[in-house]
Amino acid sequence: MMGRRRLRIAGTVQGVGFRPHLHRLARRLSLTGAAGNDDEGVWCEIQGRPTDLDEFEQRVTAEAPPLARVDSVRSAAVPPVEGERGFLIAPSALGSGTVAGTVPPDVATCPACLAEIADPGGRRYRYAFTCCTDCGPRHTVVRSLPYDRERTSMGAFELCEACEAEYRDPADRRHHAQAVCCPDCGPVLSLRSMTGEAIDADPIEGAVALLQAGNIIAVKGVGGYQLACRAADAAAVDRLRRRKHREEKPFALLVASVDAARALVELDDLACRALSGPEAPIVLAPRKESAPVAAEVAPDTRLLGVMLPATPLHALLAEATGVTLVCTSGNRSEEPIVTDDARVGPELGDIADAVLGHDRVIERRADDSVGHIVQGGFQLLRRARGYAPGTVRLDRAGPPVLAVGAELKSTVCLALGTDAHLSVHLGDLEHPAALAAFEAAVADLLEMTRAEPELVIHDLHPEYLSTKFAASVDLGPRLGVQHHHAHLASCLADTGFRGRAIGVMFDGMGWGTDDTLWGGEILVGDAAGYERFAHLRPVPMPGGSAAIREPWRMALAHLAATFGPDLPPVPSLAAHRDEMVQVLDQCRPGQSILTTSVGRLFDSVAALCGIAGTTTYEGQAAIRLEQAAGPDVRRYPVEIDEGEPAVIDFRQLIEALAADLRAGQQPSLISGAFHRWVADAAAAAAYRAREATGMTAVALSGGVFQNRRLVELLVPELEQSGFEVLRHRQVPPNDGGISLGQAAAGRAMLAGRG
Ligand code: ZN
Ligand code: ZN
Ligand code: FE
Repeated sequence: MMGRRRLRIAGTVQGVGFRPHLHRLARRLSLTGAAGNDDEGVWCEIQGRPTDLDEFEQRVTAEAPPLARVDSVRSAAVPPVEGERGFLIAPSALGSGTVAGTVPPDVATCPACLAEIADPGGRRYRYAFTCCTDCGPRHTVVRSLPYDRERTSMGAFELCEACEAEYRDPADRRHHAQAVCCPDCGPVLSLRSMTGEAIDADPIEGAVALLQAGNIIAVKGVGGYQLACRAADAAAVDRLRRRKHREEKPFALLVASVDAARALVELDDLACRALSGPEAPIVLAPRKESAPVAAEVAPDTRLLGVMLPATPLHALLAEATGVTLVCTSGNRSEEPIVTDDARVGPELGDIADAVLGHDRVIERRADDSVGHIVQGGFQLLRRARGYAPGTVRLDRAGPPVLAVGAELKSTVCLALGTDAHLSVHLGDLEHPAALAAFEAAVADLLEMTRAEPELVIHDLHPEYLSTKFAASVDLGPRLGVQHHHAHLASCLADTGFRGRAIGVMFDGMGWGTDDTLWGGEILVGDAAGYERFAHLRPVPMPGGSAAIREPWRMALAHLAATFGPDLPPVPSLAAHRDEMVQVLDQCRPGQSILTTSVGRLFDSVAALCGIAGTTTYEGQAAIRLEQAAGPDVRRYPVEIDEGEPAVIDFRQLIEALAADLRAGQQPSLISGAFHRWVADAAAAAAYRAREATGMTAVALSGGVFQNRRLVELLVPELEQSGFEVLRHRQVPPNDGGISLGQAAAGRAMLAGRG
């Protein structure tokens, strides 16, 4: 008895070699039928003996290609087709309605393709655009869905006969690989001056010679232009800093192999796995003394950010230079990276000395992703190339909602069915180009999925450009979600936790419901709602946002709150004596906005220790303070005042710390003790919340949890006391994860109302 079934496969199943997988499986089981992409994912019809059909269904998921993620397989019996032969792969059908398929992220070059570009006898020897179904560009070349070559920037390149044969051959590694190409038919590299004149040399060899001679090269990467120079060349690195207007923020490094990375940084097994994964992120790891890298690469920290080549172009470049390269985003200061060839001259003209480019269009921007190893896992700090767009699976379906995120480290999120579609990291919205990228990302999500959101969720901060955007567009009803509630909801959605939890939300700042800036919050709740169980004692932020760039102002605020008008002498603040009277005046009641931010407390302590009076990039004071932290040998007193909400008092901390400063204690001891205090305060507040509520899960979120020292002190403490500790897995703990939490909160609100 012959049977026939129609299967619908949903998930990340387009552009990951899924149809070839179905083809191979059908042939192995001697089934006939067909498969294709459509708006909902992949469909397939199979015909044969029922036991073989059963086996097919089972192996569809069990043996899915490495990059695929199967969310569901629905199967229905259909009438058999007379006289069918073979198994066909149908061309894509363009339908209407909501697209449930997603654009997969870009995938770093696989070992098989790397072997090909190193093989002098092969037809792809040294070819910079080599890829296959297991690797290559996806998100950054896709113009629209479904994911097929003609709707990508590879559509401009007609397949040659040899490539066409590989593309059509079900047994080939390049069967239906949408970006397949070769030197005869694909994109070509070019090396040009900044004014566009071709430089007469092999592009790779020419670029290598320029790098060796101390030049800065703009390299057209997969998701945008990057800037490269030799990492050991202090003069070149310094020139790059000055030209880019990036004074002290660390630069990432490109190395050819894991072994080359080991020469620079300490890597454990987890770090090696993260480094060499298909996402090829920048991994932050402790620098080795002997690393041949100029101090100017990362002046504030002992950590170096290293990455392996994500594309054949980077592999060829890293291999041919044979040294470590700085490989940083191609932009001025903090603006979004340049993707458009026409913008290279105007934007990077006075930064780089030459352009290593090519003629494939970058359709979508993607920065390099960044993460580090902490407490036995890889923690993303910036979710971009390799991870995004991609989806986070939600624990239940619901109506479509759009969340527009916060302001810094912006991302946007569309919850559709059981998927949260998250954009790549878009940057800081205060930059016009980042705002444009943000608006494009929203349009992109809506266009690609054709979803009509029932709710648009935004932050409560009235001045965030994302809030203003939500108010200005007519996309549906709006909902404002408190920033730290969104952090909590983000952590719960990220970890798939169902139920209510205690949230330790230690952060830079977010708008509170009392018109102060929150950021040291112990919340209890879930996506649907929260209570503010405790918070850090509020202090004025003298001079408003000036206090963020100038941590010494916050130091005065915390001192004044502790000691009143008679401040103890603190040597590190002496340089600001002339402005002190004015700043102390701003600390009087009603003169400045109040904040409960733990991030600002880190700033204060860094300033008091004399290691960061003023800063040049966000988070710098906290990074320096963490780097300064010595052995954990001293404890400062934790004081929590009863109340609703309870108040975590910092005054005893500041008193003890000021006494240590007067006694001439070193920043390493003070910083070590301060990190311990933050962990102790968080744990003490969490224990009280557990006593009061009976909740046994605690979620950690907010930008402060980018601090490894804090995580390493706090997590074991909470776990030993019996807590289930929830930490971010798929999105960063910083504001890059806010849009996911907003979407979850918006869903919960709709569910509660319905
Ligand atoms: Zn490959
Ligand atoms: Zn070809
Ligand atoms: Fe935040």
